[in-house]
Amino acid sequence: MTARAEIVVDLAAVRHNVALLRELAGVPVMAVVKADGYGHGAVRVARAARAAGAEWLAVATLDEARALREAGDTGPLLAWLTVPGERYDDVLAAGVDVTAYSVAQLDEIAAAAARLPEATASARVQLKVDTGLARGGAPRAEWPAFFARARAGETDGSWRVTGLWSHLACADEPDHPANDAQQAAFDEAVDHAVDAGLEPGLRHLANSAATLLRPQARYDAVRVGLACYGLDPAPGVDHGTDLRPAMTVTSRLALVKHLAAGDSVSYGHQWTASAPTTVGLVPLGYGDGVPVAATNVAEVVVEGKRRPVRGRVCMDQVLVDLGGDTPPAGTEVTLLGPPGDGRPTADDWARACGTINYEIVTRLGGQVGRTSRRYVGG
Ligand SMILES: *Cc1c(COP(=O)(O)O)cnc(C)c1O
Repeated sequence: MTARAEIVVDLAAVRHNVALLRELAGVPVMAVVKADGYGHGAVRVARAARAAGAEWLAVATLDEARALREAGDTGPLLAWLTVPGERYDDVLAAGVDVTAYSVAQLDEIAAAAARLPEATASARVQLKVDTGLARGGAPRAEWPAFFARARAGETDGSWRVTGLWSHLACADEPDHPANDAQQAAFDEAVDHAVDAGLEPGLRHLANSAATLLRPQARYDAVRVGLACYGLDPAPGVDHGTDLRPAMTVTSRLALVKHLAAGDSVSYGHQWTASAPTTVGLVPLGYGDGVPVAATNVAEVVVEGKRRPVRGRVCMDQVLVDLGGDTPPAGTEVTLLGPPGDGRPTADDWARACGTINYEIVTRLGGQVGRTSRRYVGG
C-alpha cells in the first residue's frame, strides 16, 4: 500500500448483508445508496445489492439517481428529496420513481411529465406522508388535497402513482410508543388514499432498524441503508442478525517521535504527556472525515495494539500515543475494521465521538480524492 490512506470496501460483505436482509424481510428490498453509498461508493454498492437480490435502489437526490442511471442501472429506483424548481424531465424519462410531498410539487412534476416524449412510459410518482417524523412528507392536514391532486394527475395521464410511504422517527427504540403511533397513522393514510380513488401501489415504512426489529412494519418493501453496509442501526438492541461491516480504513505512520514528561501535543495543547512516551503521526484528519470529536478519545490499532488519539484532531493529521514503542514510519495504522482482533469498529468511533455509526462511515469513506477507495470481493 502506497496511499496515505485507503478505504477498502468488501462487496462480498454487502452482498451477504443484502441477501440476509432480503431473506429476513420476506418482501422486496430497497437498498439505500444515498450519500455515495454511505461513503462506500454508490455505484459499486448498487451493483452488489442488485446482484444479491435487491429489487429496488433508493437515493435522496435526483443527481444521485442520475449517477446510477449513467452508470448503467436500469432497475426500479426511488428518489425522495427535491427542491422547488428541480429539473424532473430526464429522471422521469429514465423511469426513476420520484417522491412528492405536496400539491405544489405534484404541479411541478405534472409540468415535467407533460414535456415527456410520447413514446416514453408514463411518469412514476410515489407519495410520501408525514406520520410523525415531521421531516419530508405531506402533513395530515394536507392529505385530502394532496391525494386528490395525485388522483387527478393519474386520471389525466400525467403519471402513475406507484407507491405510498413514510419514515419512522424511533425505529431504533422498538418499545418507543412513536412506532405504534406512526404505523397507525400510516395505515390511516393508506385508507385516505384509497378513499381518494388511488391504488397506493408499494407501501413502505421500514428503515434498517424497523426491518430488523419490527416485522409488522415491513409492508410491501423495506428501505434498508445502514444494514446493507453491515452496521447496526440499533446498537445494543439484540436482533440476532449476522451483519458484516464492509468498510476498512487504514493509513500509515508518517513519523514516530519521543516525548518527555510535560510535553504537550497539537493545537491548543489539549493533551500533555504525564510520563515519557512516543507518539505516531497519522496523516489523516477531519479533511479525511476523522471527527474533531475524536480528540483524546478515539483509538486506532498499530501492530495489534489499541493506541489512543492524543491532542486535537487537525485537518490533515492526528497523533496517537505509542506508549514508548517505536514502530518504523510506514507501519500500518488501522482506523476501522475489519471486525475482530480488537480493531476499532464504526460503533467504537461513534461512542467515542458522541455520534452515530452512520456519520463515521459516511465521513471517512466520503472523501474520495483525498483518500483512495479500493474494492474487494467484487
Ligand atoms: C436514509 C433513509 C433510509 C435508510 O435508513 P437506514 O437507517 O440507513 O436503513 C430509509 N428511508 C429514508 C427516507 C431515508 O432517508
